[in-house]
Amino acid sequence: MLSTDSEFKKLLLLHSRDRREKKMLDELKNVPLEISRTEEKILIEKKSIEMAMDEWKSLEAKNNSLESELLSIHEQINRQKNKQLEVKKNEEYQALESEISSLKSKESEKEDEQIEVLVKIDDARETARIAEDKISQRVVQLDLQKKGLIERESEIKGELSTLKEEIEASRSDIEQEPLRVYDRVKKVVSRPPYVAPLSDQTCTGCNLRVSNDVVSSALVEQKLTQCDQCGRIVYVER
Ligand SMILES: [Zn+2]
Repeated sequence: MLSTDSEFKKLLLLHSRDRREKKMLDELKNVPLEISRTEEKILIEKKSIEMAMDEWKSLEAKNNSLESELLSIHEQINRQKNKQLEVKKNEEYQALESEISSLKSKESEKEDEQIEVLVKIDDARETARIAEDKISQRVVQLDLQKKGLIERESEIKGELSTLKEEIEASRSDIEQEPLRVYDRVKKVVSRPPYVAPLSDQTCTGCNLRVSNDVVSSALVEQKLTQCDQCGRIVYVER
């Protein structure tokens, strides 16, 4: 068959509509998966803000507990100093003195520890702030992406229902015999195209060389012809 044949043109139109429908159905099938992937990404981003916040909060808690430890050490030191004022014996005074000195060295250790924690708090606060800033933007983007996907889904559904009508119109316009052949090819060939032009002596559907009979049938006799390799309907472009 030649591509200029008016009956064959109708088949080519049906073919292009069928292919568009298949592509849209594939896309539609994919949309929920893409939506759930996007949702997963949003969760991961939010989780990483939480982690940065948790790190910061745990350091603040550590600082608070050091603060109260220091307060209690300080009180103990004061108590021992007051006792020192009341004792008479030198040994007792010395014993208190050594207790005070060990409390003081403990106090100084805790103070060092607190300084380290305070530095870490500064870093963690900054990290959490940056994470929140950056991630919030990313989450906004991902939310938009998700919204776009949902919109695309209903768009495809609308386009598909129009296309279905067009396909029906195409089918009712085509003669019975070529339509029967076309439907059979669609069933047998696993993936589109179902109709393919010949290029030189090659079927562009399967990329294999067809016999002279096939070329002659399509080109000279101008009949509805199938590739003798893959079964697709082949034609000559004019
Ligand atoms: Zn072929």
